[in-house]
Amino acid sequence: MTASQRTTWDQTSFDVVVVGGGAAGLTAATVAGREGASVLLLEAAVAVGGTTAKSSGGFWVPNNRVMKERGFPESREGCLEHMALLAYPDAYVKDAERHGLTPEQWDPIVHYFDNAVKAVEDLEAHDDLEYMIMDSFRGDDNGLPPWFQTEPDPLTYGRLLAPTPSDEESAAAHAGSVVLFTARGSAGAAANPTAEAMRAHGATQGDGTDLVAQLLRSALKYGAEVAVEHRVVDVVMENGAVVGVVASTADGDVTIHARRGVVFASGGFEHNAALRPLLRGPIVGTCGVSTNRGDFTEIAQRLELPLGNTAEAWWAELPLEPCLESFEQGDLISQVYGDSMVVVDANGRRVVNEKLLYNERAKVHFVQDAEGNYPNHLLFMVFDDAIVQDPTVWDARWPVPFADDIPRHVMRADTLEELSARIDERLAELSQQTGGFTLQPGFGENLQQTVETFNGYAVAGEDPEFHRGATVTDRYFSVDIRSEPMPNNTMYPLADTGPYYAVILGASCLGTKGGPKISVESQVLDADGTPIPGLYGAGNCIASPAGEAYWGGGSTLGPAIAVGHAAGRNAAREPVRAPGGAVTA
Ligand SMILES: Cc1cc2nc3c(=O)[nH]c(=O)nc-3n(C[C@H](O)[C@H](O)[C@H](O)COP(=O)(O)OP(=O)(O)OC[C@H]3O[C@@H](n4cnc5c(N)ncnc54)[C@H](O)[C@@H]3O)c2cc1C
Repeated sequence: MTASQRTTWDQTSFDVVVVGGGAAGLTAATVAGREGASVLLLEAAVAVGGTTAKSSGGFWVPNNRVMKERGFPESREGCLEHMALLAYPDAYVKDAERHGLTPEQWDPIVHYFDNAVKAVEDLEAHDDLEYMIMDSFRGDDNGLPPWFQTEPDPLTYGRLLAPTPSDEESAAAHAGSVVLFTARGSAGAAANPTAEAMRAHGATQGDGTDLVAQLLRSALKYGAEVAVEHRVVDVVMENGAVVGVVASTADGDVTIHARRGVVFASGGFEHNAALRPLLRGPIVGTCGVSTNRGDFTEIAQRLELPLGNTAEAWWAELPLEPCLESFEQGDLISQVYGDSMVVVDANGRRVVNEKLLYNERAKVHFVQDAEGNYPNHLLFMVFDDAIVQDPTVWDARWPVPFADDIPRHVMRADTLEELSARIDERLAELSQQTGGFTLQPGFGENLQQTVETFNGYAVAGEDPEFHRGATVTDRYFSVDIRSEPMPNNTMYPLADTGPYYAVILGASCLGTKGGPKISVESQVLDADGTPIPGLYGAGNCIASPAGEAYWGGGSTLGPAIAVGHAAGRNAAREPVRAPGGAVTA
């Protein structure tokens, strides 16, 4: 069966064409359909879902209904400052107007605070999306703690929402004979390991598969049609307006007229090797789906549209060696697992608080020296046998193995000296794939010293160098495995005797977050900052309003939903344009 036979749509003209079936595209399709537009969603992969389906499904929405119901305080001023500080740390000035940000940086932040809540409440009010607070797994009612505690926004609970679990039967969406998406447990989408682990620890929310299942069901409810294996490779422009797209299929290219507008929601450019040098540093792999190839960014480059935020991504860390097998990986290292563990550089010295969450921790890989090299391109996670022997099932355990299953990318030795030699040998083996990355002279002795110093910190309960375990967040996500814990649950002395283990770590991302610039109404902007009629963007394919921030858990899906909501609504409200670009109604 060819791609076009496998689709159910038989027209070449729709009010709104949506490109990409992740959270951003499915939200846009839902809202545009509800506005009365005929909608076609084009998806490059064999099924919709994108990276969203792999995710934990959390979305970060300040000032939301659940916070109000639970009495969690929200401060608009504090939250806006937190967002500005994390998004643009180099521009941030506490007491300056807009905290030092330009209007172009500041306005989308304010708009997000004020409107993301309206978007999710609108979806909820129309039974398009059911959500709850993302549960705590430590037995309290607060939900998860915020990813970051900043001076203007020290510890606000409740901004991280999650979809409720979907009924598995109805979540498998079909169009004719085509399975558009299958929920957890069916063939197709894999369960998200974070959500699985959290459910095992008592959490009750759904995950990314549930988010996709709910939004797809809603889009179909309003009559949206979906064509899979249709990769959009170009837009059709007439008289300065976008009036359609060209999609590549197994049967050749098809041109589809979009009467009112096109919404790009085609994910990041993480799988586009030609665009990746735009990022602030090299990555070794990604968790983004392999169909996210930066097509919209390439289209925008051809149209000479301004790009923004292309140096940034939703950063994460991954073990190097699995990435050499497959650039796309399933799950991130959200927090480096274990208490008797350190992460060291090629000199054998610690360079980061290992308990920082993924986005901030990964940035340490991008430190550059005077020659422009990345000395932290690869870092080395070193841990002892106690955490390997512990049987705790926890997604953030990865890449710490279970005792009965030590994969090759986990090096093992009886002493730290031997472990250093193992790492050295492994790097020599991988030299071709790492640009010749090597350990520095003295790594072994320094590692020994680093472990001794760290062990002292663990006993004292304080890490004066990197402040590991100083925040509620650090401590919350550290799994407690000791019957006699140390004063700081994130640190425990590495054992005096081996075996010891090491894993090579590199920078990665969940998805990139740069691309064409948009207005706060999700309109794609031309070089003059003027909206291009008929062209909208949302999700990871556009310049993110978050700058370099990961404001809190759910910071990628929150904007995907909110910006996708505005894109779908506004595209549906555009005037009808004939294929020639003339407005006809
Ligand atoms: C393990 C994991 C856990 C995560 N947990 C969270 C979380 O809890 N909260 C959070 O906020 N974020 C989370 N993320 C990140 C989040 O999943 C992504 O940032 C988000 O899904 C991006 O949404 P999107 O709609 O922009 O892109 P995607 O969901 O990737 O969708 C893009 C879609 O566009 C399609 N496409 C690409 N190019 C074309 C083209 N030319 N034509 C047609 N279709 C195209 C792709 O095939 C894909 O289906 C997680 C990620 C991972 C991997």
